[in-house]
Amino acid sequence: MIISLVKQLLFDTRCFICASRNLNEKIDFLCDDCLSYLTEVNYQNACAVCGHPLLTEKCPSCNKFETVYFDRYDFIQFYNDFTKNIIYKLKLSGNFMIIKLFYKLIISKSIINKNSDYITVVPDNLFTSLKKGRSGLNYLLFLFKIHGYKTLKNIYRRKLFFIKKQKSKSKSGRFYDITKQYYLPKKNINKFSGNIILIDDVYTSGATLNYGSHILKKAGFDKVHAFSVFRAVIREE
Ligand SMILES: [Zn+2]
Ligand SMILES: [Zn+2]
Repeated sequence: MIISLVKQLLFDTRCFICASRNLNEKIDFLCDDCLSYLTEVNYQNACAVCGHPLLTEKCPSCNKFETVYFDRYDFIQFYNDFTKNIIYKLKLSGNFMIIKLFYKLIISKSIINKNSDYITVVPDNLFTSLKKGRSGLNYLLFLFKIHGYKTLKNIYRRKLFFIKKQKSKSKSGRFYDITKQYYLPKKNINKFSGNIILIDDVYTSGATLNYGSHILKKAGFDKVHAFSVFRAVIREE
């Protein structure tokens, strides 16, 4: 108690999301309230495949896939106003503290077997990784690596010249596009084996993680565990 009080007086430490001084003891840059907003998920029924909340028996999200390629999917929190603010900070400022937080939150879920699971992230091309944003995922992978996890980088790749943005496309076009955005280098076909965890920041349509899982199976992995920090909820019209 006294130590944390001294620390607060000396370093003016505040929660990086809301600037509160009631910092959590384990994650010393986040307050208890923000941490619980981040980690508590309240819903009655969720789709066993993709985690989307279910109002009826039919999942509004993953039934859009022709094939579900991942064997399991987990996430930390829904993509809501609170978590949107966090992603906004991540994408604009490349805030590495947020990546550290993601790392701690993923570890706390105890879903990765350090001895047997490989970990990778959705790849980025050189151009966009030089800009701020997804390069944060590579930093996340680096954090796993320095903590003794088995990490693999760039098993598959994102094409450098993919000009059309997702946003300008129709919904049906988006799935088509995703297969043109990523490719598996020939040398990596059936090169690997075992289980792998594929991490992305946000699961929106799920196309990125689903197609990534498809490619990772072509690369030889037996099981792909898709994971995103946040999970978007589809508004049903
Ligand atoms: Zn806070
Ligand atoms: Zn589903």
